[in-house]
Amino acid sequence: MAEILEPDVNFIKQIRGLGGASLKVCYQCATCSTVCPLSTDDNPFPRREMIWAQWGLKDRLIKDPNIWLCHQCNDCCKYCPRGARPGDVMAALRAYCISEYAVPKFLAKWLQDKRYLPVLLAIPVIWFLFIIAVTTGFHIPKGEEIDLAEFIPVIWGVDLTFIPLSVLVIISFAMSISRFWRDMKRVNLTPEQIAARGGWLNIIITPIKEILAHQRFSKCGVKKTRFYFHFLILWGFVGLAIVTALVFFRMDILGIHGHISMKNPIKWLANLAGLSLLLGSLILLSDRISDKETPSTYFDWSLVILVLSLAVTGFLTEFLRLGGLAGLACFFYFLHLVSVFYLIAYLPFSKLAHLVYRTVVMIYERYEGGI
Ligand code: SF4
Ligand code: SF4
Repeated sequence: MAEILEPDVNFIKQIRGLGGASLKVCYQCATCSTVCPLSTDDNPFPRREMIWAQWGLKDRLIKDPNIWLCHQCNDCCKYCPRGARPGDVMAALRAYCISEYAVPKFLAKWLQDKRYLPVLLAIPVIWFLFIIAVTTGFHIPKGEEIDLAEFIPVIWGVDLTFIPLSVLVIISFAMSISRFWRDMKRVNLTPEQIAARGGWLNIIITPIKEILAHQRFSKCGVKKTRFYFHFLILWGFVGLAIVTALVFFRMDILGIHGHISMKNPIKWLANLAGLSLLLGSLILLSDRISDKETPSTYFDWSLVILVLSLAVTGFLTEFLRLGGLAGLACFFYFLHLVSVFYLIAYLPFSKLAHLVYRTVVMIYERYEGGI
């Protein structure tokens, strides 16, 4: 039976605005699918996605796992005879997909539109100013050992801010991803079929190990730097997540408060993770500046600036505190908390949401294909 296609003209316009401006020049030669190091004979991309995007087939594209299997290495862009830049179109489709599944949707629209940046920044700024005003009254700590908790109490500035925020983020992701999974799912496996794939544990753990090792990024030919900055930034975040859990355990379970000494292994790990984040974000920044061919959208830039800001404000706070410059240390600590708030609160709506979407798709890939 013939299928009636319903092109969404507004969708095409949005994809072009999100960095996929070149999609109309594609003439379906399929060179891109042939040269893509991640595309397979059974599941070729991105040629099919290019034609769907040209036709405005939004409903097919938002649930297409392939848009997440692309790692934007740009091999296809180099060899496309029409200069259609399919890698950039795939990135634009991912940005659209994040906003389509986001809960609440308006936040994703705000994250992709620079006019809303002042509002998004004002929320954490006002929140932390309010906390400081009502708790310490902007008291700047004194003495040899500068304790930043005298400026922003940990219970208010960290625990009562970031724990509820993290819960909200988990709820938001759970709602988005469950709808995404339902839309994407083409097969329903029996318990025997799942067992044949090594069970759910194997279906979930194997892709995560692959992501941590960056096996697919290492196949990229044109953009070798993507492997390095992505690897450093990912492991920087993993390290900081472990540090956060250890600090939480130390303070809230063991009841040990106060600054962690520079000799403490938790501090070593925090500094190592921070360095990884800093180095990764600097390579990413230089890559964005030097690559004149790949269009960088506001959505891309906001991630670069955020990661850099997290690392720089974190290190400046530490150095200034150790150097005895209490006023400046408090100022950068404030900026650091604002950056962390921005990262966590807007995670399901920012480009960083790809961490979750791509992981889910790679899990689904193993679930469906058993590879
Ligand atoms: S994007 Fe380029 S390489 Fe791919 S099918 Fe279109 S014209 Fe060919
Ligand atoms: S950008 Fe790289 S991974 Fe993505 S479709 Fe093109 S060649 Fe494949």
